[in-house]
Amino acid sequence: MNKQDILDNIKLLSGTDVKKCMKCGKCSGRCPAYKEMDVKPHQFVNYLAEGKLDKLMESKAFWYCLSCMACVERCPRGVAPQGVIEAVRSTFVRMQDNNGVKAEDIPPIVDETVPQQLLVSAYRKYNK
Ligand code: SF4
Ligand code: SF4
Repeated sequence: MNKQDILDNIKLLSGTDVKKCMKCGKCSGRCPAYKEMDVKPHQFVNYLAEGKLDKLMESKAFWYCLSCMACVERCPRGVAPQGVIEAVRSTFVRMQDNNGVKAEDIPPIVDETVPQQLLVSAYRKYNK
């Protein structure tokens, strides 16, 4: 897939219209994982709208999203930043060899309070 195809696929997977974003930043203001994210929720939306695939794929932030949907609930424009983040994460995983993710690609400390069972389940899921 070329760059535009990957971007189009991320837009499709996200299930949201990033062009509706008015860059208010309210989604990031509500995000409980904000401090840990090198790319903030509103930036995921903006980077996708602007076609900045490298910025999206280089991010480590999609590992920190809790999928709590607070950003989705907060958005006054009906945009779903969580959908974008999940779409980028899925795309990253699918672009790994054998459709899996290497253990070394996962940050050593995701969050000290994250249950070990969750990490093991995610590792199994992403290595199918
Ligand atoms: S779904 Fe992810 S990006 Fe959105 S508020 Fe929750 S942790 Fe933050
Ligand atoms: S809350 Fe909605 S409109 Fe505001 S920056 Fe986030 S995605 Fe864009």
